Amino acid sequence: MEAEKIIAAAVSRGQRALSEYESKQVLQAYGIPVTREILAGNPDDAVHAAGEIGYPVVLKACSPDLMHKSEGGLVMVGLSDEKQVRDACEKLAVRLKQAEADILVQEMISGNRELVIGMNRDAQFGPCVMLGLGGIMTEILKDTVFRMAPIDTVEAADMADQLRSRKILDAFRGQAPVDRDTLYNCLIAAGRIGLDHDAVQEIDINPLLISADGKITAVDALIVLGS
Ligand code: ADP
Ligand code: MG
Repeated sequence: MEAEKIIAAAVSRGQRALSEYESKQVLQAYGIPVTREILAGNPDDAVHAAGEIGYPVVLKACSPDLMHKSEGGLVMVGLSDEKQVRDACEKLAVRLKQAEADILVQEMISGNRELVIGMNRDAQFGPCVMLGLGGIMTEILKDTVFRMAPIDTVEAADMADQLRSRKILDAFRGQAPVDRDTLYNCLIAAGRIGLDHDAVQEIDINPLLISADGKITAVDALIVLGS
């Protein structure tokens, strides 16, 4: 489904946000690389999906109402066989209590460099794009850069160069430099989504993982709708 349809459907259902799965479909429509993933309704479907995607997989509870999944123990990473997937489904069901959610089965990305890309619709300046350092250091270092949309490749490159931690984008401890072209396109796309869709108030791609070969992948995404 194209981005506008996904957003319009969510708005008409009265959702305040898109689920992770819906959010990533919108990002993917704009060329942002996301995890391969399948929505499952029950443990059998989850096992089947894991087989399709290939182990190891990550299981998450997925619903528009779940904005901070790991706080509720609703993200299970590194599952390496069918038994682990079934056990994880059971744990998710217990932790969800009565809450309605699907099971999102996705590929496990390995990468220890984490970035964050955001978009926020400012009352005065309109959609603004943010690039920051991700992971546990986000709060400590507060290393973030903002630009008003639309941004072009030169501005996107400038954002990356203004990060204090920009060295993690280069070859680092035996790991390849980040795929800069794709990173710039992700920043441009985040601004574009804000400009194209008035209903989108906020985008939070956290984290965007950088793999050892320099590839980047959005492993989590949240699109918040305006009220
Ligand atoms: P939350 O809603 O709590 O932000 P996330 O989907 O971001 O949940 O998952 C929490 C953490 O789990 C991420 O910050 C990341 O470190 C890890 N993680 C989540 N999905 C994946 C994945 N597909 N591959 C590798 N690590 C992942
Ligand atoms: Mg997250």
